[in-house]
Amino acid sequence: MSLLEQGNITIHTENIFPIIKKSLYTDHEVFFRELVSNAVDAISKLSMVSRSGEYTQEVGEPEISIALDKDQKTLSITDNGIGMTADEVKKYINQVAFSSAEEFISKYKSDGDDAIIGHFGLGFYSSFMVAKQVEIDTLSYQEGAQAVHWTCDGSPQFKLEESPRTERGTTITLTLMEEEEEYLEAGRIRQLVKTYCDFMPVAIKLDGEVINRQKAPWRESSSNLTDDDYLELYRYLYPFQEDPLLWVHLNTDYPFIVNGILYFPKLRPDVDVTQGNIKLFSNQVFVSDHCEEVIPKFLMPLRGVIDSTDIPLNISRSALQSNRTVRKIADYIAKKWAIASRKSIGMIARNIFVAGRMWAPSSSLVP
Ligand code: ADP
Repeated sequence: MSLLEQGNITIHTENIFPIIKKSLYTDHEVFFRELVSNAVDAISKLSMVSRSGEYTQEVGEPEISIALDKDQKTLSITDNGIGMTADEVKKYINQVAFSSAEEFISKYKSDGDDAIIGHFGLGFYSSFMVAKQVEIDTLSYQEGAQAVHWTCDGSPQFKLEESPRTERGTTITLTLMEEEEEYLEAGRIRQLVKTYCDFMPVAIKLDGEVINRQKAPWRESSSNLTDDDYLELYRYLYPFQEDPLLWVHLNTDYPFIVNGILYFPKLRPDVDVTQGNIKLFSNQVFVSDHCEEVIPKFLMPLRGVIDSTDIPLNISRSALQSNRTVRKIADYIAKKWAIASRKSIGMIARNIFVAGRMWAPSSSLVP
């Protein structure tokens, strides 16, 4: 066959932009998780640059603060992280689906460094699901950087100007659409922080008050935790429930990264053991209340947290089930659980019997 032409497929921003804005996530509230994750990343990046010796000024207390203005109908999220130069705004914001994460990690990563949440370069644009105008006001950590202000009204046109800003970091301001004004309510923001950002490792402030827990016990070594620490987390995640019968702390970084704490709850006749109750996190960011795909079926009654950046989040649930890494993670969890529960199998069986449950621990639970 004779070749007629070879080339790059082009995308017309005017056509693709509305699709990105509307169809990126089914749940509009996810924009909040994306923007706060970017703010956490900006703070992690600053500490990486500071540790590398490239930034010698005071880093200060890392902080993200949220401000609501009902008159202006704005929600803003400010971080005191790395900030952006005008060139970086042009590179990472004006080019949709272009993330700085890989470039940044390859340049600054060293052992024990903070993980970076973002990767796909799309999260920022989820703000257009709820906002008619998005502004970025930012000052980079780089010496002599000029602060800049970026504005976009949801069309593919943007404006970039000099800004009088003097504090290092970034403020993202959303002017909310009329139908999205729920995000001006402090109660709604507190609820979003509790859902998605409770265990993120940076203080998040609303009206000057820190509203997230920050500490994710499952990311710590089990030798630093007492029984009370495990019980406290359980009571926090599953309030008004009886204490669990036992728990296991998952902690591996090879051949995949998984951290987590799984609890065997005290079963009662009114507890539905076929419903997954384990919370899925990625880098301390809450992703889902269901992880049936990652947990072997016979472990469904378990509760707790699984945190893994190796569970792909951008694929469908059915694809997740047949994903090789996910299957290996499920095997790992089953093995860890079998070892941990070996001594307590009698107690578990008694509880299942007393609760009159139809659930039977699979043979792999029994040594
Ligand atoms: P991702 O977070 O997946 O990289 P985003 O579309 O959310 O993608 O963001 C694109 C890029 O914009 C980020 O990689 C980062 O370089 C930059 N960015 C976004 N928000 C901030 C922020 N608050 N501070 C500094 N840089 C940011």
